[in-house]
Amino acid sequence: MTSTLLVKPNANCSYNFLSSTVMALCSTFCPRIPNNFRVTPVSSFPSKPLLSLSFKALSSQASDASSQGKFSGQIGFLGLGIMGSPMAQNLIKAGCDVTVWNRTKSKCDPFISLGAKYRSSPEEVAANCDVTFAMLADPESAIDVACGKNGVLSGMGPGKGYVDISTVDGATSKMINGHIKATGALFLEAPVSGSKKPAEDGQLIFLTAGDRSLYDSVAPLLNILGKSRFYLGEVGNGAAMKLVVNMIMGSMMASFSEGLLLSKKVGLDPNVLVEVVAQGAISAPMYSVKGPSMVKSHYPTAFPLKHQQKDLRLALGLAESVSQSTPIAAAANELYKVAKAYGLSDEDFSAVIEALKAKSDDSA
Ligand code: NAP
Repeated sequence: MTSTLLVKPNANCSYNFLSSTVMALCSTFCPRIPNNFRVTPVSSFPSKPLLSLSFKALSSQASDASSQGKFSGQIGFLGLGIMGSPMAQNLIKAGCDVTVWNRTKSKCDPFISLGAKYRSSPEEVAANCDVTFAMLADPESAIDVACGKNGVLSGMGPGKGYVDISTVDGATSKMINGHIKATGALFLEAPVSGSKKPAEDGQLIFLTAGDRSLYDSVAPLLNILGKSRFYLGEVGNGAAMKLVVNMIMGSMMASFSEGLLLSKKVGLDPNVLVEVVAQGAISAPMYSVKGPSMVKSHYPTAFPLKHQQKDLRLALGLAESVSQSTPIAAAANELYKVAKAYGLSDEDFSAVIEALKAKSDDSA
């Protein structure tokens, strides 16, 4: 499998792809530098097929104006939850022409106030946009929105693109890809690593796979939303990478929860444990960000626990498909299932510690 990594230097509407950092990374990771769009004012861009947009090869000079690009087609955005909302907002703030849809219509209202257009179904969004992004809860909703009644498929066709950012399994992604491609449109799976705050700050990490030409077309948009992007080849590879990352994360959080509880039970201050962990080789931003509030039994939702359990479930399915043993992830998954049974589905996934507390109480 070949992969490409690009990193953005700053979050702005125009992009200087060729900073020294990017060039250094590109020389290591990227055999090819993707094309990007000419700078074109949004208002002057007539709606036309995505693939007929003009391209300009990147200059090797960071100061060259041609190394800056902007996507100027019409962008659809489906799914305005915790992640979709800040992403759509960042596109609007960057001056993009955005049309939104969400199952619960009221969530579209703030975006309409910001200048976004609204359409009443995924089909209508896809029919009226050059490229449509979707950020949906799970495989079921991703399939429903893409392939269901008044779904994306009915509005797709040649010259259009569909970018699914939802975290789903590879089989779901391949199925949606097959249906989208049958309409003559292009497909890119692009799940993200990074949570609510990185989404707000345009610091997500995109794990993309699928049509390379669509990846190149939407690169300026991915640069608005994220700090780096990987192109991983065939559809399914993005989903697999995302599930492996979140399998590791779910197990890390479960293990951290055990440590916090154990430290307290043996008379240590768990706040000090958070500090000690932060200074050593096992430090992770996740522990420093979530640890202090976990000590206070406070779980402000950035990544809903139900989605973490979904990702563990899907990762275990992936492992099963290749007969890979994953006992740590399997044990963590059981803990998240217990947490869901305790009504913690919509809390942050760090609330998994509550399932351990309950277990300790049971055994006391
Ligand atoms: P969320 O806040 O729960 O939002 C889910 C979105 O999906 C909402 O717009 C919801 O619409 C929509 N939806 C759910 N079921 C639907 C259905 N049957 N038909 C149509 N729309 C439906 O979730 P999120 O945190 O934004 O996460 C979205 C995706 O990104 C998930 O796959 C998650 O695993 C992944 N992800 C999340 C994070 C994170 O930190 N939160 C990070 C990386 C990746 P309503 O508003 O109508 O409910």
